[in-house]
Amino acid sequence: MQDTLLTKQPYVKVALNVPLRATFDYKIPKALAYRHEIYPGMRVKVPFGSGNRQTVGLVIETSDQSDFPDQQIKSLTALLDDSPIIDKALFDLCAWAARYYHHPIGEVFFHALPTSLRKGESADFRSETWWFATAEGLATELESLKRATQQKAFLEALQQHASHGLSPHLISILELNASVAKALEKKGLARSEQRAFKQARETHAHQKQVPPTLNNEQAAATKALLAMRDEFGVALLDGITGSGKTEVFLRVIEAMLKDDKQVLVMVPEIGLTPQTLRRFESRFNTDIVLMHSNMTDRERLDAWLMVEKGDAKIIIGTRSAVFIPTLDLGLIIIDEEHDASYKQHEGFRYHARDLAIKRAQGLNIPVLLASATPSYESLANALQKRFSWLKLRQRAGEAELPVMERIDLRGQSLQQGFSELTLERMKQTLERKEQVLVFLNRRGYAPTLMCHQCGWIADCDNCDANLTVHKRANKLHCHHCDSQKALIHTCPECHSEELFTVGEGTEQVEGVLNQFFKNTPILRIDRDSTQRKSALTQITQKIHEHDQAILVGTQMLAKGHHFPNVTLVVIMDADVGLFSSDFRGMERTAQLITQVSGRAGRAAKRGHVLLQTYHPEHPAIECLCNQGYEAFAMDGLRERQQLSMPPFCHQVIIRAESAQEQQAMGLLMQLRNELSVGVSGDMQMIGPYAAIIVRKAGQHRALLCIKGSQRAQLHQCIAMAAQWLEQNTKNQRIRFAIDVDPLET
Ligand code: ADP
Ligand code: ZN
Ligand code: ZN
Repeated sequence: MQDTLLTKQPYVKVALNVPLRATFDYKIPKALAYRHEIYPGMRVKVPFGSGNRQTVGLVIETSDQSDFPDQQIKSLTALLDDSPIIDKALFDLCAWAARYYHHPIGEVFFHALPTSLRKGESADFRSETWWFATAEGLATELESLKRATQQKAFLEALQQHASHGLSPHLISILELNASVAKALEKKGLARSEQRAFKQARETHAHQKQVPPTLNNEQAAATKALLAMRDEFGVALLDGITGSGKTEVFLRVIEAMLKDDKQVLVMVPEIGLTPQTLRRFESRFNTDIVLMHSNMTDRERLDAWLMVEKGDAKIIIGTRSAVFIPTLDLGLIIIDEEHDASYKQHEGFRYHARDLAIKRAQGLNIPVLLASATPSYESLANALQKRFSWLKLRQRAGEAELPVMERIDLRGQSLQQGFSELTLERMKQTLERKEQVLVFLNRRGYAPTLMCHQCGWIADCDNCDANLTVHKRANKLHCHHCDSQKALIHTCPECHSEELFTVGEGTEQVEGVLNQFFKNTPILRIDRDSTQRKSALTQITQKIHEHDQAILVGTQMLAKGHHFPNVTLVVIMDADVGLFSSDFRGMERTAQLITQVSGRAGRAAKRGHVLLQTYHPEHPAIECLCNQGYEAFAMDGLRERQQLSMPPFCHQVIIRAESAQEQQAMGLLMQLRNELSVGVSGDMQMIGPYAAIIVRKAGQHRALLCIKGSQRAQLHQCIAMAAQWLEQNTKNQRIRFAIDVDPLET
């Protein structure tokens, strides 16, 4: 036995968690090769860097040869896994993502792993000690232990739970003292067993609900989706807010569970996971696992293992859940697929929706994208028949779409940002014991603090940006670099005490409404008010407890929440985004307005939406109000096509930043010259140009945009760029990032 070589190749290529676009060669020690087979996806320990520090790596492949002379190659130190820790499809996905996003391969693979696995910890459930009665223990009279009361109690429990044994969980519920078990073991009355811990289900033993009868559109969509279930395909479930999209995918999930398949459901925000979890638990009797950033390392690893080993059938998670290994995945659902939070905006800049589609292709399973306001990318794919387009155009049950009404602000005297008509309508709504939602996409008290005497404005030391006033926290806060300082009351330039704020944020609006509507609960939902772990759940509970209430909030309110008693939505400033310098500004504004409006009248009562605007006749506002999102998006897509903007071309943005002014810009100028030979066909380079906020967190930022209609050509050029940038930033204090399919320009 000892003589057969289990791993025949002498070398492994290993990915390490370092920002280099390369793998590293190591020798496989003979002793190891005799004992183990080594496969891609297993972790190893290797010496790395000048100090030969022991580092965790992931095997990419075993190989017969290396580009380096044998004597220069170090040996790997240890093999950490008996089998690959990620499945083949996920391994392929990560390798593909490293190429597609031109990101260092090691960082991609390590990004996909839970933190504890990155550190080299064991990929196993933690074990816990269970206790059982021995045959002698079962036969023992309890009275014989009457002087050792705790032992007696423990043995009694062991006898009562003879068939299942006592888990640590049960021991704590029964308030037993586990330390006495050892004494019972010595007497031969008890024995212990190590068992794998499995994440306790977060079930609240919900009563299972009877599903409603589907309406015709829902039934047709469900049928179409069920027909797609055995092979790769993408469906866009394009259904207006409240049309019952979730109900449709609950049906499809049900079918998947019957086939014993796993389903991955992605949601854009942690805040939505409890709501989705409850809805799923009220329907399915199966283990549901959550995966998001607000979990401890151990919780994440446990969830990860449950899914990898197939113990959990449904996974609800945010962006990074696209990297969870599965045993038998049958379907991926991306809810609110248009949401920008599916794109990672720093480090490894992937788009979870696009990776989910790639992953599904590798597994030959369907993907379902759902939204009331699909992204232009997905709509273009649906128009070109690459996605099947399933439309739901009526609200489920009795609900109807809200009426959209513009409030012309021109020449009106406003009360703290509200027109008189708006306030009047809010009052009427509250009198009917209904709720109002006020949307303002700006948190804090006010976006600007200014001096009346000299015009000084409070700005951030590290960014080209104003500081936001947070009165309650008594702080000035930079929303770009997160730095904070104490709120001041004297002008640092002229020492005047006449400082005043300009503009309003949600915190101010909350205060104003408290004055206007004295006896009505005002609930604020934004990043500041929901920082604590269960804050959002508590606020939403309050909303459900009261008849009358006003909710004030930012875009957090736009994301899929269900507030049945909200019948009036006030959009305080519908014009934000109309004149944005980003070509996606209009698309985002329309999505936000439509989503927020969709919170109105989701139950039996019809909803109204008031859009406060200085541009009531603006064609975009007019189209959105009168014809709705689809018509708006079709116009927008035509315009993008005329201008050859995404999705009618592909873009890559190279970002550079340096502490020194001009250094980042200089680097990109050089790069542009370097690349000009590689630019072919309809490829175009734009820039380098300065970022809109040039200096952020002390870094000067510049961008170079490269676009073209042929992905292959574009990628060739970017590969050259990546290589050049790696070489030319080695000894300089310039950081660069490659952003493929950027959402921010
Ligand atoms: P969406 O996901 O499109 O916003 P939901 O699936 O959350 O819509 O449905 C909105 C509301 O309508 C929910 O309260 C849901 O229970 C209800 N609903 C969905 N489908 C039906 C149906 N066919 N009949 C009655 N009520 C339904
Ligand atoms: Zn001043
Ligand atoms: Zn700042």
